[in-house]
Amino acid sequence: MNMTPWKLLPLPLALLLGGCATSGTRSHEPQGANSPAAWLARARVVELGHPFAPDMPVFPGGVRLSAKVMGTVEHDGYYIRQLEIGEHTGTHVDAPAHFAAGSAPVDKLPPEALMGPAAVVDVTAQVAANPDYEVSPGDIEAWERKHGALQPQHLVLIRTGWAARWPDEQRYRNTDASGVMHFPGLSAAASRLLRQRQVRGIGIDTLSTDPGPSTTFEQHKDFLTGGGYHIENLADLSMLPPTGAFIVVSPLPVKDGSGAPARVFAFLPPGD
Ligand SMILES: [Zn+2]
Repeated sequence: MNMTPWKLLPLPLALLLGGCATSGTRSHEPQGANSPAAWLARARVVELGHPFAPDMPVFPGGVRLSAKVMGTVEHDGYYIRQLEIGEHTGTHVDAPAHFAAGSAPVDKLPPEALMGPAAVVDVTAQVAANPDYEVSPGDIEAWERKHGALQPQHLVLIRTGWAARWPDEQRYRNTDASGVMHFPGLSAAASRLLRQRQVRGIGIDTLSTDPGPSTTFEQHKDFLTGGGYHIENLADLSMLPPTGAFIVVSPLPVKDGSGAPARVFAFLPPGD
């Protein structure tokens, strides 16, 4: 197998195709069945975000989506609404500026940073035993032992299984009698390890990358200050393989935004 031509591709596409080429080509332009377009055409695309609706769970103090009808086809000739929404409502991206003053707002996240190969870390078993489970460096290192070292292009997606509680806000926040929320997240130590690996972003299928009981948001401070971004409130990740999917994150490029609602797509390897 001659992989050399792939090195000439833009990096994300080279990674996208790295495990998929079955034969080499002497051309500098990938052709035929091995071309990026052919891979994309055969890939299954799945949505990793939730639909946006007024009943979506929000973080305490968050702004719920509201949609006011401003015109209807029957009365105005066209249907149009006015939306109100928080920057962190629904499936959304946290930009570095969310916790690091003066760093990149969401509109300054470059497109190439918003896509990359997925590293899916499955902690559903740990979370089933402990809703406050904090992803540890050991969880990340276990993934690396099985699948290889994390690369700077990776998007690390934490699958906790919590998306099954969406959109039931009571079960999703899981607040106890003293007002403390209980849902899984990442430990600060795991965040530091991922920052050292220079991965582009961290996504999770819960209300926050910090665990529910956190009041100091150490993981947010660590990873966003390091220039990375988060994707929160991801939907069910069970269809993703641990490695081999390619992710495209598409937040609204709101000028100076601390974050923004996003659609998130996964391209699954052909045959999966
Ligand atoms: Zn957020």
